[in-house]
Amino acid sequence: MKKITIIGTGYVGLVSGSGISDFGHNVICADKDEEKIKKLQDGTIPIYEPGLKEILQRNRDAGRLSFTKNVEDAIYRSDVVFIAVGTPQSANGEADISAVENVAKTIGKNLNDYKVICTKSTVPIGAGDHICELIRRNMSDNGEFDYVSNPEFLREGSAVKDFLWPDRLIIGTKSEKAFSIMKEIYHPLYINDTPMMHTSVVTAEMIKYASNAFLALKISYINEIANLCEAVGGDVHEVAKAMGQDGRISSKFLHPGPGYGGSCFPKDASALTAVADANGQEIRTIKAAISANEAQKRRMVDKLLKLMNGSLCGKTIAVLGLSFKPNTNDIRESPAIEMIQAILNEMGTVRAFDPVSNESMQTIYPDINYYTSWEEAVYKADCAVIMTEWNEFRSMDLGVLKNQLIAPVLLDTRNVLNMNELQKLGFTFDNVGRLKPSDS
Ligand code: NAD
Repeated sequence: MKKITIIGTGYVGLVSGSGISDFGHNVICADKDEEKIKKLQDGTIPIYEPGLKEILQRNRDAGRLSFTKNVEDAIYRSDVVFIAVGTPQSANGEADISAVENVAKTIGKNLNDYKVICTKSTVPIGAGDHICELIRRNMSDNGEFDYVSNPEFLREGSAVKDFLWPDRLIIGTKSEKAFSIMKEIYHPLYINDTPMMHTSVVTAEMIKYASNAFLALKISYINEIANLCEAVGGDVHEVAKAMGQDGRISSKFLHPGPGYGGSCFPKDASALTAVADANGQEIRTIKAAISANEAQKRRMVDKLLKLMNGSLCGKTIAVLGLSFKPNTNDIRESPAIEMIQAILNEMGTVRAFDPVSNESMQTIYPDINYYTSWEEAVYKADCAVIMTEWNEFRSMDLGVLKNQLIAPVLLDTRNVLNMNELQKLGFTFDNVGRLKPSDS
């Protein structure tokens, strides 16, 4: 059993800490955000993530998982320190690693004996050397460490499952000792035959960016195919289904929509192009994916304007779904933000609803109206816009929707509703890349 500290208790840190304690290790989750730590100590989970409450509680009750704001003491008491703080996008498109740098300095100052320092945060390719240098510069003579890059691939909304049953583990380190300690930490996965790749630090960092940027590219590609379907009269669902049956392509990430969002794809795709440019190796495909994504978000606004005969002035629009994907309360880079902003810019009024993200969106738009059910949000609205594919929207009673709206007008940016039924009820509607019953 290892003594482990995870620094940063966000979506990655909290899930990783709970998961690693579930593997049988003793984990301290440390964060500088006192309010967050207080909540966790009181048993309140600050994020919405299915299954997290159960695994966290189970390991807390077993005495394997604790929370502290005393980052220094947690480092001092650990064999292995994971860095899981945020690396948001900076103004120039590069990753802002100032939080990682601060943590590296703190680790250096509190390195009292040999420890493995492992970065889970997504950091730019080549950042490992810089992190090691910061630790070294700040440590005393007693300090000794090996460095590991262990990028995380969990997806919000299914993060617990993804952490406990990952497709693969990437362990980037030049130290055999650190590699064997990492194997010990992930022992339950290792014995379950989860592929574990031992790479260099730079290769591990590259794998993370290359994977996320590729998925962003795949989404932008299917979105552009959807747009072309609209122009030529094809149905993107049938196209995507057929493409997905080709084992070389796979059906995952072939769902057209309003453009990707979230805390990873936008910033990681952008950071990869920044690293590529800095190394004189422009990645044109990813630049195109980023620009296609921006255009896709704008295209949804154009679709709404078209449905509303060119003007939103004085109109009330119900925005259903605020998070960037279902099963999370994360609204970072959510396409719903661009939609809300456009409605407000056009002098419209927003009635918003999300099953778990109203509170998150209030941090950006405190003055729009939020409701606790979609039925309330659409009441006397001129149009409803579905922005997130929550299951409860898939099963919404379209008769009720029609009765609540002033007129039956709908934009389904996630293609979750049955077009035949919408047509039967007399809806004026649009979605993404679908052949409408009236067109066929
Ligand atoms: P987050 O913003 O949810 O959480 C980051 C946490 O770090 C916050 O609680 C913050 O208070 C804490 N923190 C910042 N500076 C600190 C410091 N000096 N000392 C202690 N705590 C500090 O971030 P996240 O979404 O969990 O992402 C973390 C990293 O993991 C990022 O690099 C991200 O790119 C990567 N990642 C995220 C996901 C995801 O789905 N969210 C998936 C894979 C990888």
